[in-house]
Amino acid sequence: MLIRILGSAAGGGFPQWNCNCPTCRAARERSGTALPRTQSSIAVRGARGPWYLVNASPDLRQQLAELPADRSNGLRATPVAGVLLTDAEIDHTAGLLLLRESSSPIRVYSTDEVREALTEHYPILTMLENYCGVVWSRLEPGESIALDGSSLEVEAFPTGGDAPLYMGKSATTPTSVGLTIADGGHVLTYAPALAAIDRAISERFDASDCVLVDGTFWRNEELVELGIATRDARAMGHAPLTGTDGTLAKLSALRPRTILVHVNNTNPILLDDSPERATVEANGVEVGYDGMEIEL
Ligand SMILES: [Zn+2]
Repeated sequence: MLIRILGSAAGGGFPQWNCNCPTCRAARERSGTALPRTQSSIAVRGARGPWYLVNASPDLRQQLAELPADRSNGLRATPVAGVLLTDAEIDHTAGLLLLRESSSPIRVYSTDEVREALTEHYPILTMLENYCGVVWSRLEPGESIALDGSSLEVEAFPTGGDAPLYMGKSATTPTSVGLTIADGGHVLTYAPALAAIDRAISERFDASDCVLVDGTFWRNEELVELGIATRDARAMGHAPLTGTDGTLAKLSALRPRTILVHVNNTNPILLDDSPERATVEANGVEVGYDGMEIEL
């Protein structure tokens, strides 16, 4: 199995267009100390079969341009066979609209809750249906399914979190899942949003060969203290790396290679020379970057 991190930043990318937080500012002013990063997405392919996208970010166009693909099979050959969605957030789905030129229906895999959000509240699947068509397949947490034309098998598992903001404050249905993707005996677990690491998730991580996991926030109050938001990290469905019940200690104890993804632009681990980055690495955990490839 080959995995490529297409975008390693959370929503807004890094640096974010309107952000002057210390990390974004350092990224602009201190060249060479922080890699720019696009928004959250990975691509996966099995020993047999095509690339699949996991999440479709607003930066999808430039991300696909860098994805090695076999374009020999037609005038309008698509570099990816389909898209798996872990949630219905705008940052993970806006890229679907950029696939509308497809000459064949787009294959989309998601939970029922995500499909409902993307048809009833933010009708991106309905819109896409009218351009190129959509072939939707259900991800039922706990059930493993084979991806079409591929040796990959995928199983979703709940990761908590709240509903997207566009659904309004009254919406409470958690719509976030992680994915365990297997190819023969090789196993990747991907969880870009994670509300907590409980025993079941910890065991799932430990049974994988590689874990790509939520590294959104360093501290729970990160955005609140900067005056950027009123909701803290946990209220947004992202357990912070440090502080009470921070995830870094648990990730540090895992057996498999563990890489942080979905890193928010305020998180100081994005700076190559920060003490926070050194702490992550001293714990045996890596910080993902755009273009990073992992072969299992
Ligand atoms: Zn920023």
